Amino acid sequence: MKSRGIVHRTLYALAGLVAIGICTASVALLWMDRRVTWESAYVSARNLAGVLAADIGRTLHVYDLSLQGVVERLREPGIARVEPETLHRFLFDRSATAEYLGAIVVLDKDGNVVYDSTSIVPPKLNFSDRDYFQVHREAHNAGLFVSRPYHSRLRGGDESIAISRRITLPDGSFGGVVAGSLRMAYFRDRFADVSIGVHDAITVFRNDGIVLLRDPYSSADMNREFDVPLDFQQYLIGREGSFVGILSHDGVNRLYAFDAIEGTPLVIDVALAVDDLLQPWMRRAALIVPVTLALFMSVMAQIILFRREMRWRRAFEEHLANQAHTDGLTGLANRRTFDEVLNREWEAARRDRTPLSLLFLDADHFKLYNDRYGHQEGDELLKMLALALKNKARRPRDLAARYGGEEFVVLLPNTSRQRAIAVAETIRRAIAELRVPHEGNEGGIVTVSIGVATAIPNGDSDAAATLVEAADAAVYEAKESGRNRVAAAAA
Ligand code: GH3
Ligand code: MG
Ligand code: MG
Repeated sequence: MKSRGIVHRTLYALAGLVAIGICTASVALLWMDRRVTWESAYVSARNLAGVLAADIGRTLHVYDLSLQGVVERLREPGIARVEPETLHRFLFDRSATAEYLGAIVVLDKDGNVVYDSTSIVPPKLNFSDRDYFQVHREAHNAGLFVSRPYHSRLRGGDESIAISRRITLPDGSFGGVVAGSLRMAYFRDRFADVSIGVHDAITVFRNDGIVLLRDPYSSADMNREFDVPLDFQQYLIGREGSFVGILSHDGVNRLYAFDAIEGTPLVIDVALAVDDLLQPWMRRAALIVPVTLALFMSVMAQIILFRREMRWRRAFEEHLANQAHTDGLTGLANRRTFDEVLNREWEAARRDRTPLSLLFLDADHFKLYNDRYGHQEGDELLKMLALALKNKARRPRDLAARYGGEEFVVLLPNTSRQRAIAVAETIRRAIAELRVPHEGNEGGIVTVSIGVATAIPNGDSDAAATLVEAADAAVYEAKESGRNRVAAAAA
């Protein structure tokens, strides 16, 4: 029994480990999966930002070289004397002519257009109100300046930005500006090649926080300040990196990967919605979590069922063990139990030198009862007799047993002959007082005859069986002398 308990406990422990193992493995798997998903999204965002930054940077650099070329050629001595057509060719011939690049214009120190790459005769226009003009006029070190987006006056309102360089006269004073326009379509076409999710965004912003372009495109975004707080933007300038946060007004948590566009005051920022990039992982989690839970539950259910089965089996075994010791009809101890207890009590009585008494009870004319009322009724009567015995043998060590057939015994440890006779008499009277009809018996009711024997076992070879024999003999005597009475063996 004990070793079986250890085996069971080990089994429970193993099953518990399996359940915990399943859960741990799933959690670990999900965690790793999430990391891999996250990392690959992070790498793509960084790569995307890097590639776009490099591409845009290269384009702007080429345009910048054109502007610088114009600035340099304007410094050539004697160009004022050159004929306009030749000068135009000299200034702009090697300028990049790409589909996105608009006119390159040269402005004098008052903002008037003095040269235009698209016409030999410059249009009479003044751009002194443009931000790039003002910036270069105020600062000699603005370098390559990228303007806010504006609607081109030259090209029918086409959205453009101007990239510009300052013309510095030999004495260091402001001599005007060389500016080229770049159509915003350039950025939009670049971004169009990149597929991003509906909640994702790519933003190009200037180091003062002005948004040049955002994809998905909305004209409302133009010239607006970038969502990222200004001091943080300044931190971003000239760096590359990433961070996660809720920065935009729509409250979406995004992974921001940003990269400086080299040689320009621009930063590109790729923002991917965290929920979207984790979506594939969530879908896998939505599958794995219930499956894991189901597995876990099934293991737990098996443990519980196994425990219940074990408990039931133990109860059943106990029941069987009890059955081996009790009489099926009356529920009293059976003959085997009686024999065991008798021997034990006999030894105890011998050790303690106390009297051991035995009542032997036999129903009167029971054969006739069966004959008259049927065997079934006979059985019912036996149950009744058993109950009467149980009620009258109440001390803890008293034992009432069915000896066989319609014969019962009551073992009374540490009970004198006198006392045993008294107990027998109570039993006999109690049964008679039930007044169960029994036509074949004298008096017309069920009665019993009881034989009493008492012994104080001594050291001799007295066996317990002699006590039974003596009680049996006493019953015979009781029958002989008229039944429904108690007879005691001689002391
Ligand atoms: P007496 O007064 O001399 O004891 O007469 P009696 O008829 O009781 O005689 P005896 O004790 O020899 O009879 C035993 C009868 O008890 C025989 C059998 O019909 C009946 N008997 C024995 N075991 C059972 C039982 O389990 N159920 C029933 N219904 N009857 C039983
Ligand atoms: Mg009998
Ligand atoms: Mg009898």
